[in-house]
Amino acid sequence: MVARYDRPMQSSRVLDPIDLDRPIRSALPAIARGAAALARLGITTPREALWYLPFRYDDFSDLRTLADLRPDEKQSARVTVQAVRVEPGFGRRPQRVIAQLSDASGSAEAIWFGRRYVERRLRQGDEIVVSGKVSQRGWRSQFTSPEFSPVGHESVHTARVVPVYHLAAGVTQKRLRELLARILEACLPAIDDPLTDAERGPLPALDDALRTAHFPEEAADVAEALDRLAFDELLALQLTLAQARMARDELTAPAIGAESSVVGEIVAALPFTLTGDQAAAVEAIVADLASERPMRRLLQGDVGSGKTAVAAVALAVAVRAGWQAALMAPTEILARQHHTGLAPLLERLGVRAEFLSGSLTPARKREIHQAIGGGMAEVVIGTHAVISEAVEFPRLGLAIVDEQHRFGVGQRAALQAKGSGREPHLLALTATPIPRTLALTVYGDLSISTIRELPPGRQPIRTEIRDRRALPKIQDFLASEAAEGRQSFVVVPLVAESEALEAASAEAEVERLRAALPNLRIGLVHGQVRADERDATMTAFAAGEMDLLVATTVIEVGIDVPNASVILIEDAERFGLAQLHQLRGRVGRGAHRSFCILLSDATDELAQERLAVVAGSQDGFHIAEQDLRLRGAGNLLGTRQSGLPPLRVASLFEPRHLKLAERARTMADGIVEADPALARRPALARLQADFAPAEDEGDAA
Ligand code: ADP
Ligand code: MG
Repeated sequence: MVARYDRPMQSSRVLDPIDLDRPIRSALPAIARGAAALARLGITTPREALWYLPFRYDDFSDLRTLADLRPDEKQSARVTVQAVRVEPGFGRRPQRVIAQLSDASGSAEAIWFGRRYVERRLRQGDEIVVSGKVSQRGWRSQFTSPEFSPVGHESVHTARVVPVYHLAAGVTQKRLRELLARILEACLPAIDDPLTDAERGPLPALDDALRTAHFPEEAADVAEALDRLAFDELLALQLTLAQARMARDELTAPAIGAESSVVGEIVAALPFTLTGDQAAAVEAIVADLASERPMRRLLQGDVGSGKTAVAAVALAVAVRAGWQAALMAPTEILARQHHTGLAPLLERLGVRAEFLSGSLTPARKREIHQAIGGGMAEVVIGTHAVISEAVEFPRLGLAIVDEQHRFGVGQRAALQAKGSGREPHLLALTATPIPRTLALTVYGDLSISTIRELPPGRQPIRTEIRDRRALPKIQDFLASEAAEGRQSFVVVPLVAESEALEAASAEAEVERLRAALPNLRIGLVHGQVRADERDATMTAFAAGEMDLLVATTVIEVGIDVPNASVILIEDAERFGLAQLHQLRGRVGRGAHRSFCILLSDATDELAQERLAVVAGSQDGFHIAEQDLRLRGAGNLLGTRQSGLPPLRVASLFEPRHLKLAERARTMADGIVEADPALARRPALARLQADFAPAEDEGDAA
């Protein structure tokens, strides 16, 4: 929506500064050899490298004596190498390198697995600083795969607060840290702070914040640096929202008037009576549709709360008034489920719903495109294919998007542009309810309808917390449910470091379960499986062709399998509470008694309290509020925040950041009012473009 930033004259600098937006190879020839590794992480320019932030830090700044080492903590020590030996691997056992270490207080050992040629860098008598996790092995302490560097040459890896980044195959923490350290050194002078001193207020300057966020002098400095980066990200988001609000005031939508008798007729044709919350949502939507001001409404409610029924009424109202309507879902399987659920409801209302997705044959696609173009197709349900360029809706009056956060801003804009001349009204559905204050801050351009009350007769899902000792019993239970004809989900632990590790752990878990439960048909889906294969597996599971589906959180959104009665979530403490609640919503969708088992060996009080919140409540809003309360200071970058825009730095579970979001909103309103296209603020326009959500957000099908 804003033109890319043309680099302004750099009048204040004598030397031509490094161009932060050119490919690394040419912008920084000195590190050209690292460019391929960085590319694997999606980093192609210096600016992207600067914003590739660690997701946590290890504090190795405090040097311990060996006698003072504490088990199960990450620590550093300054030691002398007494001996190094290599134990060759055999069979499945990897090679091991073991070093005996000592200092004045005592001794310890360090161990590395696999062929890493550590022995070549260690000699008897070397003085080194080792940093790593310590465990107790019999009577002595052992560092497992520690980093080390010669005394006097302490590096970015040891004896300091060390950043830990998300990795990809073929890139080590060590290599990445070294590359980023060099890029920072070369590039920070070229940083152009997008904020004026007055706007920045007490927050640190951007170059300082970036330096500290990567390589803090002290752990205590990190929070302030991240606040600044979070503020920039939130400001980028709020600038977009402010522009959207302003642009919307100039747009008109078709006024889709519906006689109240027509609405009454439609509602009466449903196979059930609307709940109070559903009726209120319908009323608000009908009022929005009747206005020429384009509707921008978020309908939020837990899974199974009956959003689809409300959507059906809205679609029927638009069609009855002579307009076309579209519903889009982020994946093929969700789109199909919507079609399967909505088509019969709409049929009762005398409305035909077409299904459109990338997987249809070209001939079928053409047919539907023609039906849409000729105005014969009244309701189209599908994936992004609905907004592909070939489709022209002559009379698009209403567009509904499911799980709207999965759609990039660009896609929403493309959909809106389908209204040929006029804006369609837009309704977004989300099953991840978020507290109202949060919603207003992040979705400031949307009105909100909320369904809290579940349709009558819903069976509660029994939720239990268990530790790993119960695993054999749990497996027996999965087997007995399968014998009854029921199906189960097993969700593998969330691995923050990388999707590849997560996929590997999912694969290992499938192997384990196949061995333990040889009579069960077990399938697997994770983020590294191709989207079409993933859909095929989920479809097969939904069709009852498997007893058990092992999955990462890719199953979180929407999949509807009424026959599934158990969901087992491993290492449940690693998930966000909203996420656990979402996952639990995969079961209890049919007539069967359903169970959610939260498997966790976490013993700390906070983890137990968090899990108890989920076990003790089925109310998504209550859980979201408690999540917000309990997250507090736990500011983990990269924590997946389902239901919210994909923020990279800011955490909306962080009360400080929520306040920053409010400040950003006020500031953005002022800036956009004075300068709607940010023509006078190129650095801000640049910031906004950098943080625009990716166009292919979500799983395009
Ligand atoms: P959501 O889309 O919010 O996940 P759905 O609209 O799919 O929820 O509704 C879940 C189930 O509840 C469906 O089987 C639907 O037919 C049923 N349902 C929805 N609204 C009502 C209602 N007011 N009374 C009874 N059943 C309802
Ligand atoms: Mg639904």
